[in-house]
Amino acid sequence: MALTIVEDSCTACGACELECPNGAISLKNDVYVIKAKSCTECDGDAPKCQAVCPVDDCIVKAA
Ligand code: SF4
Ligand code: SF4
Repeated sequence: MALTIVEDSCTACGACELECPNGAISLKNDVYVIKAKSCTECDGDAPKCQAVCPVDDCIVKAA
């Protein structure tokens, strides 16, 4: 299971990258992406990237 960033919503503020405990978030070609294999959804706690993202519905559960 992993979260994903909606490319069109992301403002590339970078806040989520700093919060991820697994280093799963990085900047790629001017947008931030979540490496699905590294995302643990923060192990049962509230996803930290989602909590810090200033844009509603920008970080969502991967389909
Ligand atoms: S849910 Fe947690 S582990 Fe997954 S990308 Fe966000 S901060 Fe990182
Ligand atoms: S916190 Fe939200 S808007 Fe900022 S880089 Fe991450 S996904 Fe994009």
